[in-house]
Amino acid sequence: MQTLETIAAVRSWRAANPASLGLVPTMGALHEGHIALVRRARAENERVAVTIFVNPAQFAANEDLARYPRDLPRDLGLLREAGADMVFTPLPAEVYPPGFGTWVDVEGASDVLEGARRPGHFRGVATVVCKLFGIAQPTRAYFGQKDAQQCVVVRRMVRDLNLPLDIVVCPTERAADGLALSSRNVYLSAEQRQAAPVLFRALREAERLAAAGERDANALRAAMRAAIAAEPLARVDYVSVADAETLAELEAVAGPALASLAVFFGNTRLIDNTFLA
Ligand code: AMP
Repeated sequence: MQTLETIAAVRSWRAANPASLGLVPTMGALHEGHIALVRRARAENERVAVTIFVNPAQFAANEDLARYPRDLPRDLGLLREAGADMVFTPLPAEVYPPGFGTWVDVEGASDVLEGARRPGHFRGVATVVCKLFGIAQPTRAYFGQKDAQQCVVVRRMVRDLNLPLDIVVCPTERAADGLALSSRNVYLSAEQRQAAPVLFRALREAERLAAAGERDANALRAAMRAAIAAEPLARVDYVSVADAETLAELEAVAGPALASLAVFFGNTRLIDNTFLA
């Protein structure tokens, strides 16, 4: 496994490895969710590249950029074990050199849900992902359903800009109690960690009601709010039932719908989602 820090080195590596390439973009602090993406990429491509880059452009000024968990030696060990061929670990100045001034703004899907609470977040995500695609030129890129809106934004960007690769979305990996794996789970106290599966329970409740025939999106949102309210350590940021493609809030569930939520435990904000049948 090669660890590369410069764009020039990645370009040379890609030129020497012209076979099909699966790319897994990450911010590091890897867990089984990331490793599942690497395994899927391993199964579907001749070469697998992973990027580890805590992208300053997708953090707002008040967010956790400085304290975001970082452990490169551990990450590299996990990636070697999972069968990655190359890991790109650039410094911010390599990705955003002085004078950098071109941004990718995916309109519509970027402005709601996470985008409404985190202004500029998806502009930062779309820009860095577009750059990584240009640098590594993957055949396929792998993303987690855990970040459902990110998947919508990236797919829309690939379509709108005619980028020559396939986007593969992989299911959310969860702990035994249902909590979606996340690098930010390390911020939780022991009590908050115990309370955190309430997100999963709320989503399961929405799934159950929808499967039983509930079409009223307000009723589904209310059921999720009630489930979260039963957990004193949890504070709802948003609860959503939206069109799975446009992410517009629904009045009634008629086609593919995405139930999603963001919940605070103290200062830590967790997100999760599920499709409603
Ligand atoms: P991050 O390092 O948080 O930017 O995540 C890198 C990639 O891993 C993104 O495509 C995420 O959606 C994906 N990911 C994060 N957590 C999970 C999870 N629990 N299951 C599956 N994929 C995940």
